[in-house]
Amino acid sequence: MTYFLDVILPIPLQKAFTYHITAAEAQFLKLGMRVAVPFGKSKIYTALAYNIHNTAPTSYEAKTIHQILDDRPVVSEIQLKHWEWIANYYMCSLGEVMRAAMPNAFILESETIISKNEQIEIKDSELKDDEFLIYEALNYQSSLKIQDVVSILDKKRVLPVIKNLVEKGVLHLQEELYEKYQPKLVRYVKLHNNHKSEEKLQELLEILSRAPKQREVILVLFALEASDNKPIKVSELVERSGTSSAIVKALIDKGILEEYHIQADRIQFEGDGDADSKTLNEAQRQAFKEIETTFQSKSVALLHGVTSSGKTEIYVQLIQKQLAQGKQILYLLPEIALTTQLVHRLQNYFGDKVAVFHSRYSGNERVEVWNNMLNNSEKAQVIIGARSALLLPFNNLGLIIVDEEHEQSYKQFDPAPRYHARDAAIVLANMHMAKTLLGSATPSLESYFNASQGKYGFIELNTRYNNVLMPDIELVDLADKYKRKRMKGHFSDRLIEEMTDTLEQGFQIILFQNRRGFSPIVECTTCGNSPQCPNCDVSLTYHQYRDQLRCHYCGYNSAMLKSCQACGSHTLDTKGFGTEQIEEEVKVLFPEKKVARMDLDTTRGKFGFEKIINSFEQREVDILVGTQMLTKGLDFRHVKLVGIMNADNLLNFPDFRAHERSYQLMAQVSGRAGRTDIRGKVLIQTYNPHHNILQQVSTNSFKEMYSEQMNDRYNYKYPPIYRLIKITFKHKDYNRVNLAADWYAKSLRQVFKANVLGPEFPAISRIRNLYNKNILVKIPQKQSLAKTKEAIKKIDNSFNAVKDFRSVRVIINVDNY
Ligand code: ADP
Ligand code: ZN
Ligand code: ZN
Repeated sequence: MTYFLDVILPIPLQKAFTYHITAAEAQFLKLGMRVAVPFGKSKIYTALAYNIHNTAPTSYEAKTIHQILDDRPVVSEIQLKHWEWIANYYMCSLGEVMRAAMPNAFILESETIISKNEQIEIKDSELKDDEFLIYEALNYQSSLKIQDVVSILDKKRVLPVIKNLVEKGVLHLQEELYEKYQPKLVRYVKLHNNHKSEEKLQELLEILSRAPKQREVILVLFALEASDNKPIKVSELVERSGTSSAIVKALIDKGILEEYHIQADRIQFEGDGDADSKTLNEAQRQAFKEIETTFQSKSVALLHGVTSSGKTEIYVQLIQKQLAQGKQILYLLPEIALTTQLVHRLQNYFGDKVAVFHSRYSGNERVEVWNNMLNNSEKAQVIIGARSALLLPFNNLGLIIVDEEHEQSYKQFDPAPRYHARDAAIVLANMHMAKTLLGSATPSLESYFNASQGKYGFIELNTRYNNVLMPDIELVDLADKYKRKRMKGHFSDRLIEEMTDTLEQGFQIILFQNRRGFSPIVECTTCGNSPQCPNCDVSLTYHQYRDQLRCHYCGYNSAMLKSCQACGSHTLDTKGFGTEQIEEEVKVLFPEKKVARMDLDTTRGKFGFEKIINSFEQREVDILVGTQMLTKGLDFRHVKLVGIMNADNLLNFPDFRAHERSYQLMAQVSGRAGRTDIRGKVLIQTYNPHHNILQQVSTNSFKEMYSEQMNDRYNYKYPPIYRLIKITFKHKDYNRVNLAADWYAKSLRQVFKANVLGPEFPAISRIRNLYNKNILVKIPQKQSLAKTKEAIKKIDNSFNAVKDFRSVRVIINVDNY
């Protein structure tokens, strides 16, 4: 009997690939174990065992596998089923799902580059012969490819040796040079409670009359406390009192002053996991009960709770209950980079049981989470992660929480699998007979629709925790303000007034502007020409900081031009405005206040986000200017005012979801204001104060927004009424893109008739020197999705058989919104 093994290779192959194995190997191998296999002329890949059988492949001769890498499966059966669903639904290969799911350290391949971990000392005697040879080679060369290792060891079977060395921490795989962020703690001081009363204070000053310097420190502390209701930094106190930190320290040692950290204050301690969960208030308790009742009959529930209503605390209690039953919980977040806050909060309650799965974490940390899950370890019971955490080896899942379920970043756009994590989460939960809770202050239309149809359970939470009022939202008419000359730069007199008041009261401000850079477009006032990116069909953006023009699509940059490229005039002017310009203007308006900016440009570096969020939390910054990064569920205590600099560029975005998204974005940004006991204030500057969406945002009328937008979706046949599949064609030759897209569209029309739109060039038709053209297939509710995809696949196969089209890249995106 001859045995064959089908494997999943981590590359976009349509079919599983078949290898020859021995009878003994067939005996030993199980679904989900890794094997090292040769592929192509000289490549080595790590593949996953998928199916064992006795049928030789017909179109090629099966090679033999190099070897088996595991003694037990590293991918579970349910997990594979779920991957299959993703590949099937989102029309990609299983290999692409595998690559998205597995840490790189799990899928060593010939292209992988290894280097020595300089941080570790290892004795030669601790290494086996093969291991030593590699280690030794890395003393002479800074890095090696797997192929190099094959020649050094003079054998093909090298992956296990490398795997062992990586596990021992001796080797690094490239791209794994990440570190964890340690927030810098600022030291603050206050008078110890023992001395707070008038009487005690007099006593204290009496005693200190013989220590004039210490007395001076106390007096300055009072002055500072009286003038500003902000926490007082040790450094500030030292500076203002003209003393030294030794004197402040002496006062702390004597128990007269008390030192504290804001970060620590808030978290209390680094997540020992024994903090008592908070007692839910009446509204929260009610919502919690309703969720539980809903789950008795439905597998999915939508929790619509206004910003700061205390949804997270409800999640905490649900998690607790699942843990008590020995179940795993997956907590999905839209962007893990922004969630140090939440991770701390959960670690506080659940300690070590919380594992974070983060694409920015090092390979070793990700492998650790994976292995902990395979071993069903105590350590990985509550998994927090962004969308790819969904692809981990769960074995006993009880609950998935999808927080901020409306967020666009749950959808992966590039590369494949182009999955939507919320939707794939519901499928995963069902496979585990678990429940899914979707939570948001501004649910997506599709989830709200599903809830209103009774497909999902529905729970509402309409009051903020502590009964803080929803922020007071005021619309400022820019046309009027400009006409009456009430503007300073991009700031209306109303905004400046409110900012002045807020700062005087010692509170913080968030200013939202949806564009980064200084001024998006440079235009010649003589001929109207604006400088364009040479690779993309977009105008370049001006960045004042570096005096550069940059392309936000491909990264192209050049020095700012001195004169117009078209007519040579020195009349280049800037139009529109971005975060950088707002920041500059704030500095001029409030020169004595501290401003920071949060956008892609300032957060790119290591820990960029964390640093900015941390310094804002610690109140080192008074005014934070940012793009939509600011919206994602951040919980700042001292923000009283939010300013939306210009609502119009959100509303005018050319997309069927523009209005829905504008509502969500503005409601979420507004929700950052007044989260504790003072009511927040929001100012929205706009040229269209009567726009329905703005009226709805300012009156917090989600339901009204929903029914109005749903009307449009019915009328124009858009989701959630119709489904969409978008097909994109890419090629560097303009004509070829046109021909290919026309051919494809014609074939689609024969099947789907009028439900095929396009082909059409998108607003930006050329990116990185490739032309793009799109076709949209609309799918009515009654039409079978599976059959639709089959038909598309058929057309795609015929398309690929046309020689001229083979070099055209075709990207199929299911539910592309
Ligand atoms: P949401 O997730 O709905 O925006 P959060 O769960 O972040 O709201 O709650 C808002 C704030 O109120 C947080 O600072 C949280 O600690 C606090 N909070 C919520 N519920 C409670 C509770 N039951 N007891 C004490 N504090 C609470
Ligand atoms: Zn010109
Ligand atoms: Zn470009």
